Amino acid sequence: MSPPFASVYFDCDSTLSSIEGIDELLQFADSALRKDIAELTTQAMNGTLPLAQVYESRLSKLAPNRKQLDAIGEHYCSNLVPDAKATIAALQSLGKSVGIVSGGLLIPVQQVARHLEVPLEHVHAVPLLFHDDGSYQDFDHNSPLWRNGGKVPIVQGAPEAHHPMVFVGDGITDLETKEHVARFIGFGGVVARDAVLKNADYFVHENSLAAILPHVLTAQEVIALSQDPNFSSLLS
Ligand SMILES: [Mg+2]
Repeated sequence: MSPPFASVYFDCDSTLSSIEGIDELLQFADSALRKDIAELTTQAMNGTLPLAQVYESRLSKLAPNRKQLDAIGEHYCSNLVPDAKATIAALQSLGKSVGIVSGGLLIPVQQVARHLEVPLEHVHAVPLLFHDDGSYQDFDHNSPLWRNGGKVPIVQGAPEAHHPMVFVGDGITDLETKEHVARFIGFGGVVARDAVLKNADYFVHENSLAAILPHVLTAQEVIALSQDPNFSSLLS
């Protein structure tokens, strides 16, 4: 489908931010557990192990507390991909809605959203449950986002005014939205994954998030941005 598009939804880890939030939690774990979990994450990302299987064991082993989640949120924000904030502001200036759909943890992903000025009602990730003392209890198993295919019901359930929608992401669970959105853009600025590269409608190799703009905007929208001194540099 061709533009104009009403919204652009983004994955978080390795798309808006160059880190993988769950991997960052490893800094709080011992070295044996660390190695164990990093391997599981790689397999989940490449699609060789079902996400759900990895997700549950990873989280129960890591048992992140509230303070650690805040630290991950800060880490996300200090490792945003180049031009993330300006690209989102540019899309919003053109009247497009912006959302985030992440298989990561809700508290740190919300921190990214606040930083990028993405409305929290358009931010979807996996909520955690805590004990009263802030220690980890469990994650919300009702969220679809800890399983393969979990991003599909989120994009389908987005407000009607957000369609036609563009989805931008680096992973297999992002690619799964392809048949349910107007356009899927693979983002390879942090990691280029083969399956995504092969199957995306468009694929961006550049490290800057602004590289998606030519694949998202109409010719008229490009002209409008090029005439806005706040955003014209994003198109060069
Ligand atoms: Mg990702």
